[in-house]
Amino acid sequence: MIHSFLETPIEYCKGVGPVRADLFKKELSIFTFGDLLIYYPFRYIDKTKFVKISEIHDDNSYVQIIGRIASASIVGVRRSTRLVAELRDDTGDLELIWFNGVKWLKDKVIAGALCIIYGKPSYFNGKLNITHPEFELYNPLDPASAHNLLYPYYSSTEKLKSRGLDSKGISKIVRAILNDASEKISEILSGDIIRKLNLVSREESIFNIHFPENERILARTTARLKFDELFYTQLRLVKLKLYRIQKIKGHVFEKVGDYLNDFYFKALPFELTDAQKRVIKEIRKDMASGTQMNRLLQGDVGSGKTLVALMCMLIALDNGFQSCIMAPTEILAFQHYKTLNKFLVNLDIKVELLTGSTKAAKRREILEGIQAGEIKILIGTHALIEDVVVFNNLGFAVIDEQHRFGVAQRARLWKKSDMPPHILVMTATPIPRTLAMTIYGDLDVSVIDELPPGRKSVKTLHFKDSNRLRVFGFMKEQIKQGRQIYVVYPLIHESETLDLKHLMEGYDAIVRDFPLPDYAISMVHGQMKTKEKEYEMGRFVKGETNIMVATTVIEVGVDVPNASVMVIENAERFGLSQLHQLRGRVGRGADQSYCILMSSVKVSNDAKQRIETMLETSDGFLIAEADLKLRGPGNIEGLEQSGITDLHIADIVQDEKILKYARQIAIELLEADPEIEKPENQAIKNYIRQENKRKGSWGMIS
Ligand code: ADP
Ligand code: MG
Repeated sequence: MIHSFLETPIEYCKGVGPVRADLFKKELSIFTFGDLLIYYPFRYIDKTKFVKISEIHDDNSYVQIIGRIASASIVGVRRSTRLVAELRDDTGDLELIWFNGVKWLKDKVIAGALCIIYGKPSYFNGKLNITHPEFELYNPLDPASAHNLLYPYYSSTEKLKSRGLDSKGISKIVRAILNDASEKISEILSGDIIRKLNLVSREESIFNIHFPENERILARTTARLKFDELFYTQLRLVKLKLYRIQKIKGHVFEKVGDYLNDFYFKALPFELTDAQKRVIKEIRKDMASGTQMNRLLQGDVGSGKTLVALMCMLIALDNGFQSCIMAPTEILAFQHYKTLNKFLVNLDIKVELLTGSTKAAKRREILEGIQAGEIKILIGTHALIEDVVVFNNLGFAVIDEQHRFGVAQRARLWKKSDMPPHILVMTATPIPRTLAMTIYGDLDVSVIDELPPGRKSVKTLHFKDSNRLRVFGFMKEQIKQGRQIYVVYPLIHESETLDLKHLMEGYDAIVRDFPLPDYAISMVHGQMKTKEKEYEMGRFVKGETNIMVATTVIEVGVDVPNASVMVIENAERFGLSQLHQLRGRVGRGADQSYCILMSSVKVSNDAKQRIETMLETSDGFLIAEADLKLRGPGNIEGLEQSGITDLHIADIVQDEKILKYARQIAIELLEADPEIEKPENQAIKNYIRQENKRKGSWGMIS
């Protein structure tokens, strides 16, 4: 088999045998030369800079020193053997310590040797030292010893290191490949784009990103490679969107009929907010356009998205089509079911609920009703996308809290009718614009940026665990006034059993402090059966219990207006958007609501920042932005499918400018050459083809 240079399997590189090749694949997903060449260094050491020993501070950054070994000796026995040396320059001295590689180093690290030391200084017992520094003999007369490069640092893993593939080892392999790579790295952008943006060539960038001569070259190189990544993610998204607009016909819903009118004039218990009206208008326009709608509806918790969705479903009904809502959990699906039934109580519309725990007989009845078209609105969980669910004519599908659904699952909804239904994706996790552009670049976006009137803002307070008694006192006071309270514990997958233990201990403590018959307590957590969960949730919803002790299973969508206090235990362990979601559970009724963040006395800086952000603002978009800055985009759910995780060097937060540019250029390109077939765009076409082969097809998303 003949490979192009970049497609050459990594084991064909000199110095990479089968064992190392295997590690490259398993540890870093590096299969080919090309994969390794886009395994970029994560930082560079400026080896042109040296410091004097007297200039060193305990500031944790790496330093490079030229000095002479004043003394060296091996101390300790057997397992604790280490090599300890004294390094001296004309300003002071410093201790060097090696625990590993002593056998190899002891002949080089000898008194009198002139050397270059590179490492991270720290103080131990009041003395400055460097543990495991890089050591190199220095000959001032030898030109090969001249250091005029920015030295690349690659991240590695323990397993790779054990086979000599630490940063230095990886850099050697990269160099070996680059030695043969001249003229084998083809351009992936058109000459037009390169000229227009004054970019360095792809080949030059790939060489220079690994071994840049200076900061200036590194900066240009980095910009070029970031552009490449962002351009191709945007090109893919913009292409999908254009394809959808041009090619995918949608049902035309022009009519407004009795369903919507009856609801609007007879059943709607309040006035719509201006934002709700605007969004409904946007959706109606899409639905009447003849093209399939794929719209993202963003709105903070409690902004009234469900109502918007309902009114759009009624439009579908007026035009003779069925609708569905898909929710990520049974509790949420059930909640939607209840809400809709409440709204539709006087209208003759058959709404059903289908989830994993729907009984067989009921299920059969629902499946028949759906196929016959008697059931107009179907609400459910993943159960909705199973093949056995056959709609008579699905015209509109709502996906709630979409970040929990994968793209593939969304795609299955498309296939539920001959012509794909209009799709409205609702999310209560506000997403900063840059991110929305990248993840949902193929969707149109509507935003409800206004809460229904009369909402009191939630007072947010922070207490250390040591103040628990005060918090309990406050809770009792609130209960006396007839309020209900959530107490939420973290549930993070890796430590589920431990978390459950915390939850149980917390529950026990609350039961002790809030005894019957004055207080009734519910508890819900992920390991309970659905039936039990619903029973417990139901008691709280009906006001039969005062306190709901729960894990984050109650995070999304639950609506109990009388619950006005949210106590979040171990708040330091929650992410910002989670905290925000939880806070959104209260402040839904007429009473002043409170969100109480409990944390241990000592928390990390990041946690401190999250808590401070929560105290400062209740604006979901600001919080999302802060979250993105703190955690980076890699942690946002649903991102794997977006192509963002393919970004090696670009960062959608930091590189917002390049991202916007890249999107603009992608749009211009597709406007001028929709199929990417003109000769001047050959390089782009080739790259897409090559990437499709590498990663599987770009496929249809959303
Ligand atoms: P979201 O799904 O965006 O979190 P919901 O649709 O659950 O919000 O709405 C939250 C609450 O506000 C519900 O009780 C709903 O009935 C109510 N609501 C929605 N729109 C309005 C409005 N325009 N005026 C008053 N209350 C509203
Ligand atoms: Mg909701």
